[in-house]
Amino acid sequence: MKMPINCPICNVVMLNTDTKLLINKRLLDVWLKECDHIDYNLSLFSLENEDHMFLAQLYFKDSSIRNGKIIAVWNYNSYSFFIEKNEDKKRLSLPWFEPDLSNPKKLLNKIKTYIVFS
Ligand SMILES: [Zn+2]
Repeated sequence: MKMPINCPICNVVMLNTDTKLLINKRLLDVWLKECDHIDYNLSLFSLENEDHMFLAQLYFKDSSIRNGKIIAVWNYNSYSFFIEKNEDKKRLSLPWFEPDLSNPKKLLNKIKTYIVFS
């Protein structure tokens, strides 16, 4: 998937940051595009010199979540999806689906449903 220029949720222009990301015990040079909002933090990653988004991380700060937060991570390379919940920091792998990042409320409801049935 192509890296978006604007935040798919609030449409603000996201700037590239040069950073490193540890994936499968390998430290990769990556570009990070981030939008930190009162309700969420969205981080999108691509490999340097590529415009292909391979990882999306959405941190929900929704007050309806018990104990505060859920972090959802989609890996477009391996088509894997997992969440981390605040209280235990344990990863819960869930079935892959292509997220509609423009609608975090709908995404959160879908994830909550997955959690109930996992
Ligand atoms: Zn945004």
